Amino acid sequence: MFTSISGRSVLVTGGTKGIGKGLAAGFAAEGAQVVITGRDAGLGERTAAELTAAGGQVSYAAGDVSDPESCAAVVATARERHGGIDVVCCNAGVFPAAPLTEMTPAQLDDVLSVNLKGTIYVVQAALPALTASGRGRVIVTSSITGPVTGFAGWTAYGASKAGQLGFIRSAALEFARSGITINAILPGNIATEGLDSMGPDYLRSMEAAIPMRHLGSVADIANAALFFASDEAAYITGQTLVVDGGQIIPESLEAMG
Ligand code: NAP
Repeated sequence: MFTSISGRSVLVTGGTKGIGKGLAAGFAAEGAQVVITGRDAGLGERTAAELTAAGGQVSYAAGDVSDPESCAAVVATARERHGGIDVVCCNAGVFPAAPLTEMTPAQLDDVLSVNLKGTIYVVQAALPALTASGRGRVIVTSSITGPVTGFAGWTAYGASKAGQLGFIRSAALEFARSGITINAILPGNIATEGLDSMGPDYLRSMEAAIPMRHLGSVADIANAALFFASDEAAYITGQTLVVDGGQIIPESLEAMG
């Protein structure tokens, strides 16, 4: 149904675990050449080795998306290894809880620097390569939290995720004549190492709030990303896709029946 993306060069930020690892696995399974980045080099090398052993072409490059120079270095590495970049998945993110009564300026800066500014830095750094590709794709991992829903304690996170959508809409206009599309996926609650750290009570309450009664998988997000990356999605830009098992639909628990 879709044109093969085998051989395309893909950069996944935050690709060392969780959703990003799932994105890397999904692209690698389609024959793409993938560079993953994250700060923990030991984990990054292990993840790349695991995905390569599974048959993919995946390598790790150390990087911190909150640092523009680091973003430029990771982009340069991906270009050197694979001769260019066709797809960038801006996925790196942090989600610490910080009620407004306790939030420090440093905590706010951290969330905005990684989630929002980091997305922009990576896209800026990759823009020449995406333009050279002629069919560049940017796929941002946003969230339902912020763009669609709210969660007490996650004001900074919600603002960062909504901010990503403000960014993609204007970027889509800047890129519209260069063959580059930029879209965002809004995951609901996806089973990842990061979400596990929220604890069993959180996970149970989320399952109860999801009409399908189970968390999503990283493959669910990878499938959405593969669609946005396809040649067939070339006319879709500046858009969002919610992948949440129906979580944003019900007005109340009773509405779920
Ligand atoms: P995770 O399991 O905690 O993984 C986060 C990834 O981001 C790791 O690879 C981490 O590696 C990397 N990362 C964090 N800070 C970074 C930085 N400054 N520079 C480079 N890499 C960095 O999280 P996840 O659940 O997969 O979430 C991934 C994305 O999905 C985030 O943007 C999150 O907001 C979004 N999301 C997740 C869910 C969910 O239910 N899981 C729902 C909605 C949206 P290092 O720590 O080694 O750098």
